[in-house]
Amino acid sequence: MNKCFLIISSSFLFFLMSCSNSNQNNNTMNEKNSIESKDFKFLTEQFSDIKIMRYQVPDFEKLSLNQKEYIYYLSEAALWGRDITFDQNFKYNLFVRRILEEIYAKYNGDRNSENFKNFVVYLKRVWFSNGIHHHYSTEKIPAGFDKEYLAELINNSADAKFPIQKDETKENFIAKISDIICNPETYKKRVFQDPSKDLILNSSNNFYEGVNQNDVEKYYSSIKQSDTLRPLSLGINSKLMKENGKVVEHFWKKDGMYGKAIEKIIYYLDLAKNVAENDKQKEYIAKLISYYTNGDLKTWDEYNILWAEETESLVDFVNGFIEVYGDPLGRKATWESVVNFKNLEATKRTKIISDNAQWFEDNSPVDEQFKKKSVKGISAKVITVVTLGGDCYPSTPIGINLPNADWIRKEHGSKSVTMENITYTYDQASMGNGSLEEFAYSAEEIELAKKYGPLAGNIHTDLHECLGHASGQLLEGVSTEALKNYHSTLEEARADLFALYYMMDNKMIELGLFTTLDFAKSEYNSYIKNGLLVQLTRVNIGKNIEESHMRNRQLISKWCYEKGAKDNVIEKKVKNDKTYFVINDYNKLRNLFGELLKEIQRIKSTGDYESGKNIVETFGVLVDLDLHKEVKARYEKLNLAPYGGFINPKLTLVKEGNVVKDVKIEYPDDYSKQMLEYSEKYSVLPDIN
Ligand code: ZN
Repeated sequence: MNKCFLIISSSFLFFLMSCSNSNQNNNTMNEKNSIESKDFKFLTEQFSDIKIMRYQVPDFEKLSLNQKEYIYYLSEAALWGRDITFDQNFKYNLFVRRILEEIYAKYNGDRNSENFKNFVVYLKRVWFSNGIHHHYSTEKIPAGFDKEYLAELINNSADAKFPIQKDETKENFIAKISDIICNPETYKKRVFQDPSKDLILNSSNNFYEGVNQNDVEKYYSSIKQSDTLRPLSLGINSKLMKENGKVVEHFWKKDGMYGKAIEKIIYYLDLAKNVAENDKQKEYIAKLISYYTNGDLKTWDEYNILWAEETESLVDFVNGFIEVYGDPLGRKATWESVVNFKNLEATKRTKIISDNAQWFEDNSPVDEQFKKKSVKGISAKVITVVTLGGDCYPSTPIGINLPNADWIRKEHGSKSVTMENITYTYDQASMGNGSLEEFAYSAEEIELAKKYGPLAGNIHTDLHECLGHASGQLLEGVSTEALKNYHSTLEEARADLFALYYMMDNKMIELGLFTTLDFAKSEYNSYIKNGLLVQLTRVNIGKNIEESHMRNRQLISKWCYEKGAKDNVIEKKVKNDKTYFVINDYNKLRNLFGELLKEIQRIKSTGDYESGKNIVETFGVLVDLDLHKEVKARYEKLNLAPYGGFINPKLTLVKEGNVVKDVKIEYPDDYSKQMLEYSEKYSVLPDIN
């Protein structure tokens, strides 16, 4: 309210920028403050295969001062981990990024040349991917300029401070950096997935050094778990190296690797603890601090239990070494953070879902022995994101379900979130971009998508995170690592199938989540269309599908397409030389989803590696070259970017003396500026760790 009355004061300009454009009709002042804007610029720029957006934080102003301050410190802790993620992705990422940033700041040659423009795009892509490998395909990003031009950039950046070693000539330094950036034959892939070769030696991530796949597997299988029912997540927070012929683990902790950054994270977590909303939060933040201090996985589990069981507070966060997609063996976790608060209105929806979790589990099509007899506290909520950090920035998931340890989920429950201000931004930024019209077969399908698409998509995410990942159980003695490099794909498929299967259930209407099953139809259309067509825009011609979520989507779509062929469940149609996939029978498709869910749950529950490998390799990986070329050509005409990422809002403490009076939120729209600010402000790690 206050802000809007400031229209007559000196804050007029600020008001214009943040409020007045925000509504078209006669909304109330409060709605103005929540800036639910039609004119807010969601899409700020596009380069290479990437679009940059900014998201709003509705209702931030309605939080209490204490909650805002709490969010501020958590956000600082989120931003301090950025360099850890860079370094984990590749040993020379920080080294490279800092050199590129120096050139960007100091180069005094022609800054309008084609070459320099390519250099800037390359730098933006490195920022986006937290390193020199594509964030999604994990392949080395082509520089777009040659080593001669790189030398020219370095030689004409007069005051630049380059990390040239004492015993190193400038020529050698240039040779070293150009071998990393410009040579397509070195460090080709961050996460190497072809099981016929050594997964560790061929991956360029910084999780292992001097060890091969056999060393790693031998090392971890030699460690006895003292409690086999509650196994520790061995290896999740360390780099494994061979030193003097011995395999050793370097732990990521306060007095270990990444210690300087972790110290900062601890510092801000500690400040956050003082203003936390309740004692439980204080307790788990203290636990997280001790884990960052001692690196002990038992402490990590204790933290996760406390965190999973605390569901009362409005503000919440993720902060740690969490997801293992960056390691082909699925063991080492990349650092990430998300700071958020609950969207109370939309959470009513997910509460209905989690309150009925046992019903969904009992009625699922999987074998009885693989069902959870009692589903433990799945807490689902819709959240509003305030800050993204580490592996979640600038590219972010739209839903999260944590903790990852199966036994904790089974015994203590898990928290599942749908990030609605992020999905809202995606919807807003892609409105009217032509993609839907290009790939949908009929006007009816387009109509359905416009009418039901956004909510159906959000409910898919709710079901995927809240029920899908949390459902099912492993047979005794089976570990999640049994599926090795296929684990992530199969796990995503399991969660997607659970969601897809239930979306077409009358229970959805009974529970008031849908008013009509047309919501499900619209989601089915979009899923199949994406899995068989649209997502191919993200893959380079001649390549197969590598990324787990993409493999999962194609696996499901293709499996159903082929299994349903005799009944013509999904039909391939060609109109004006364009290929479409049309669903003829939604109920039969639903049954196919159920059948596949049953099989994938069996694979997971029994740790059936061979079947898992077979189903992923047969349906999830290979791409039809002709169709691929067609999809790429159609998409190119639309001039769209297949990947999106976000500029964070900027938070500032407003102080009077030492007393915090408010936390100001702004929405910067300059991606490069934010990246440079972060590199300047949140950077304490050495070039090479
Ligand atoms: Zn998932």
